[in-house]
Amino acid sequence: MAQSSLIFADNLAVSPLQKLQSPFLDKANVQLFVKRDDLIHPQFGGNKWRKLKYNLQHATNKNFDTLLTFGGAWSNHIYATAAAGKHFGFNTIGLIRGEKHAPLNTTLSFAEECGMQLHYIDRKQYRQKNDASFQKKIIEQFGNVYILPEGGSNSLAIRGCEEIIQEVNSQINKPFDVICCASGTGATLAGMISAIEAEEPIPKKFAIGFSVLKNGEFLTTEVNNFLNNGVADHLLSDNWRIEANFHFGGYAKINDELIQFMRDFQAQYNIALDAVYTAKMFYGLFALIKSNAFKPGSVIVAVHSGGIQGNKGFNL
Ligand SMILES: *Cc1c(COP(=O)(O)O)cnc(C)c1O
Repeated sequence: MAQSSLIFADNLAVSPLQKLQSPFLDKANVQLFVKRDDLIHPQFGGNKWRKLKYNLQHATNKNFDTLLTFGGAWSNHIYATAAAGKHFGFNTIGLIRGEKHAPLNTTLSFAEECGMQLHYIDRKQYRQKNDASFQKKIIEQFGNVYILPEGGSNSLAIRGCEEIIQEVNSQINKPFDVICCASGTGATLAGMISAIEAEEPIPKKFAIGFSVLKNGEFLTTEVNNFLNNGVADHLLSDNWRIEANFHFGGYAKINDELIQFMRDFQAQYNIALDAVYTAKMFYGLFALIKSNAFKPGSVIVAVHSGGIQGNKGFNL
C-alpha cells in the first residue's frame, strides 16, 4: 500500500541555486546561476522528480498502489520512477521500448533492484502507448494502475515544474532575466513559462528551452499544447522560445566536442553534466553568451535537470 498523506515536499531539500564564477562569464558581463535540481535526491533527483511529485500525490489520494510508465532502455524517467516508487511505497511497472538485452544495462538493472517489473514492447506498440485502446489493454493486463506518460510529462508534471521558478525567485537577490532548461518533451519548459506568465509586473522574464532533439522547432507546438491544451494564446507569447541549434545530430547523439565541453565544464565549475540533456543546454547557452545574445549585465539561470545516470550509456 502506498503511504498515506505524503510528505513529498517536506522531506526533500530545496535544491541549491549556485552562482558560477569564471573569467569567461566576467568578460561576457553576465551573471550565471545554476538551479541544482540534480541534487534533489541521488536517485530520483532532477526534473523527473519535479514531474513525479504531484503525480505521486494524486496517485496516493486516489488510492493507487501501483505506478506504470514507459521509457527507453536508458530512460531517466524509468530510473527515477523506480527509485521514487520504492522510496514512497508504490509498486512500479516499466514498459520498455525494444527487446530485452541480457545482461541488463545499469539503468534497467537499477530499476529492477528497486522492484520495478520490466516488460518489453516493440517499437510499433510503443508508438501507440498513449492511445485509449492500448491503455485499456494495460488496465486489463495489469489491473488498476496509475499510468504516467513517457517522461512523466502531463499537467501535474507542469505544476511541479512551476515550482522551479518560485524557488529561484526566493533564492536570488535580484530578479533574473532569462531562465533556460534542456527540452525533450517540453513539459519542464512549459511549467516554467506558466509560472513566469503568472507573475507581475511586466516586463516579464524570458525562458529558453534547448532542444536535445533534431528539428526541435516542433517543440514550440508541444509546449503550447502543454500550456493551453492547444489553444493558440501562447503562440503569441513573446517571453519564451525553443533554441533548436544545439542538438548535436539528435537525441542521445554526441561527439568529441561535446565530451570535451563536459570535461572542461567539470574542471572549471566542478559540476558534472549529462551528455543527453544538460551538456547540450550549457554548450548552447555558452555559445549564445559568446555571441552576445544577452544584454550586458543579464542575470541568467540554467536548470541542471539531472540525468547523470545516463552517462553510463556512453561509458562516460
Ligand atoms: C527528461 C529530461 C529532460 C527533458 O525534460 P522535458 O520536460 O521532457 O522537456 C531534461 N533534462 C534531463 C536530465 C532529463 O532527464
